[in-house]
Parts: sequence; C-alpha cells; structure tokens
Amino acid sequence: MRAKVVVVGGGIMGVSIAWQLAARLDPIDEPVVLLERTDLGAGSSGRSGAILRQHYSDMEVAAMARDSLRFYAGFQARTGTSIGFRRCGVLTIAGPSDPEMLERIERNIRMQQSIGIRTQRLSSREIAEQFPMLQVSAGSIAAYEPEAGFVDPMRTVSAFAAQARYRGAITRLGESALGLQVHAGRVRGVETETETIETQIVVVAAGPWTKAWMNQCGIALPLRCVKPEQAFLSSVPAQQSRAAGRLPGAPAAESWEQRFATNESPDDPVGHPVLLDVEHGYYARCQPTDGRTRVGGMDYHDCQELAHPDQFDDQVRVSFRDWAHGALAKRIPAYAKQPHAGTLAAMYTLTPDAQALMGPLPSIQGLYVCTGFSGHGFKLAPSVGEGMAQLVLGEPVSAFDTKFFAPLRFAGAQQAHGSSSSGAFGL
Ligand SMILES: Cc1cc2nc3c(=O)[nH]c(=O)nc-3n(C[C@H](O)[C@H](O)[C@H](O)COP(=O)(O)OP(=O)(O)OC[C@H]3O[C@@H](n4cnc5c(N)ncnc54)[C@H](O)[C@@H]3O)c2cc1C
Repeated sequence: MRAKVVVVGGGIMGVSIAWQLAARLDPIDEPVVLLERTDLGAGSSGRSGAILRQHYSDMEVAAMARDSLRFYAGFQARTGTSIGFRRCGVLTIAGPSDPEMLERIERNIRMQQSIGIRTQRLSSREIAEQFPMLQVSAGSIAAYEPEAGFVDPMRTVSAFAAQARYRGAITRLGESALGLQVHAGRVRGVETETETIETQIVVVAAGPWTKAWMNQCGIALPLRCVKPEQAFLSSVPAQQSRAAGRLPGAPAAESWEQRFATNESPDDPVGHPVLLDVEHGYYARCQPTDGRTRVGGMDYHDCQELAHPDQFDDQVRVSFRDWAHGALAKRIPAYAKQPHAGTLAAMYTLTPDAQALMGPLPSIQGLYVCTGFSGHGFKLAPSVGEGMAQLVLGEPVSAFDTKFFAPLRFAGAQQAHGSSSSGAFGL
C-alpha cells in the first residue's frame, strides 16, 4: 500500500501523532498508517504513572504541560470517552537541606505563573494547614498545582488511537516496522513482515526500541534505556477533601471546572494530591478508586541500565519496595502501617539532558524521530502529537519549540538551546 505518513510505534506518542496527522489529511488519498509491533501501550506508555503536572524548570516544557493538561482535562467532554482523568492536585515539595532546590522551585513558580499556569508557593505552615496528613519540616516549600492530576494510561492510549482511526488512520497491530527503504537520501518506504509500505515520510516513535531501529539506518542517537521500578501500597483513607484542593486565597467563584472538565466521576474519592517529593526522592500517586498508591523513585541513576529493551524483565527488588514504602511514610506517616499492594517494572528512554528528541534527521530526508521523554513524557503527548503533525506536514510549528527538542542538539560542541533543568524529571 501507499501512505502519506507511516508512524512506527503505538505508545502514547505514536497514537497522538497519528491522530493529529489524520485530522489534517485526506484518509483516501493521503492515509496515515501506524505500525505497532505488539499491542497499543505495550511499551513505556501502558505502565506509566501518567501524572499531569506542569512544574518544570524550562518554559518550553512547562508550556506544553499546561496546554496538554487542558487537552486531557477536556477530553471526555469533547469525545464522550473517559480516560480516567483525576484532578487531585500536584504538590512538588523540597526541604530546607537543599537551598538550591528551594530557590529553583521559587524560580519555577514565578516562570510558570508568568505563562498562565495556576501554581502557588506554599510555606511549610501552609502545607501543614492545607494537607494535615503530610509531615513537613520548617523551611520546606511546595509548588501546588490544584488543577493538575493524572489519567489512566491504557485508557488514554486506546482512546487516542480510536480518535486516530475515526479520522481515517490505519492502526496495524502486531506488525513491526522491520526496516527503511531509502533511495538517493530520501525515504521511499517501510518494510514490514507482509509488505513494503510506500511512503516519503516516516516518524519513529518506538520508545526504548528507537535507538536500535535508527542504528540499523546508520543513525546513532544519544539514547539509553533504563528500568525504573514502582511499588504499590494500600492507600490510606482519603482525608483530603475537594474543597481543600482550592488554592489558598483563590476566589471560590473562579471556576476552572466551568472552562474545562474536572474529575470525570465527580463522586469518586480524590485522595491526597500527587506528591513529587524532591526531599525524599520519590513521587507518589494515590489511586483511591483501586485502593492503591503508586510510588516511584526520582533518580535515574538508581535504575538498572539495559543494553537493549528486549533484555527487560518484570522483577522488582525487595530493597526498592522497602525503600519506597519508607520514603512515602516519612512524608505521610499514615502509610507506615499500610500493606504492600504489588510492584511494577518498566522502561524509560533517556537522553543526556532528560528532554525528548523530536524532529527531522537530515541525513535521510523524510525521516523523523520522536522519543527520549526520559520518564516524564505522558503529560506532554497532546502537544507532541500536534507539533509533530505540524512539523511533518510543513506547517509552522506552534505546539513546541523545535530548536529546544532538535534531535541533533548534542552533536555540536556548543548547545544552541538547552534545558536548564537539573535532570530529574526536568525539575
Ligand atoms: C514507570 C513509568 C512511570 C512514568 N510516569 C510518568 C508520569 O507520571 N507522567 C508522565 O508524563 N510521564 C511518565 N512516564 C513517561 C511516559 O510514560 C513516557 O514518556 C511515554 O509513555 C513514552 O511514550 P512513547 O510512545 O514514546 O513510547 P512507548 O510507550 O514505549 O511506545 C513505543 C511503542 O513502539 C513499539 N515498537 C517498538 N519497535 C517497533 C517496531 N519496530 N515496529 C512497530 N512498533 C514498534 C513498542 O511496542 C511500543 O508500543 C513514565 C514512564 C514509566 C516507564
């Protein structure tokens, strides 16, 4: 067959890109084909925490997180399909032992407010007043985003894929992209087990498998694959009321819910906010509807390095599980006695500055890459899909900064444009 664009990979990035492309193209004359080697969401996306925070150090990323949060929050209202959106709020907390991080968080809050993100600095006293279940030492501060939360990752991937198909994209599951056909330096097609799909544009969004895929095309990308571990605890009974999720001092009449959707099931318990606990090095997402709280570490250096994603196994160390339990219990002592409720292993695709590689690879015309989200990409997927569709079709790119994410930004000695984050999750 012939396609206008072939997208390789059915994670959240692949389905978002396919959706936004299909929305712009004629399904008969200019079909979009998405190839997924196994099932939708089978890579990092299906195991994601899918936390939607906007707290970043780089304005380029914070703006994408802001726009994407609005997109996710309004998804059900626009499409009628639930993606499990929960507006539980996100607290990014730092302690007095790290003055540099305190300063960074203050700076981030000012920058984020300047671009319209609703976030507020809370002192240790305000944190304790707003969230009595949290233990905070004097001199701590938090950035509080009451409108942030999380989605269900698998429901989101399938819902985006359904939107792509509704607009005419073809999703071929269980079909790998085996190789690229190139003629005179230009893409000519993609080989699969069954045929060669003729196309002049290929977008590779194959997550952890992208590095090996590009290697076979003679392109070396600075990507690494690591195995983060996650532990689940039985959730503590919800003490956090929805009313407490209002920003201190914010006028009650200003209803964000009227502009965007709120929790998709307003009667579900909210639980406590998502915690990004920089002081104790973990993040936690309370899922009161399934009675569990997920805890993951924030330091990539603690993750096992994988030479190839096919080396991945599901084992999680008992030492990690116990560390995660102890770390969360330091912040919320009520967790100390909560039973373990399972573990999960997964994969991150890392870049040297923890920001994605998105854009063309000029050595082969028509070849684009979109990967390297380094453990924090799910929240950005709506902006990624829109921006990649704009880029590939030659439209002005409004959804992200193409220089900031340029795949070849590490190639020169001087980085023209670079991330100012400290690494961990772009903070
Ligand atoms: C444990 C964990 C927690 C996370 N928590 C968060 C969070 O709270 N918030 C957040 O914003 N982000 C989070 N992330 C990051 C986020 O989930 C990822 O950035 C995002 O899912 C990456 O999506 P992707 O589509 O690039 O890759 P993937 O989801 O890995 O998708 C790649 C797909 O390509 C397919 N594929 C590979 N090779 C081929 C081929 N040759 N042909 C066809 N298909 C192929 C794979 O099967 C796979 O389905 C987390 C990630 C993990 C692992």
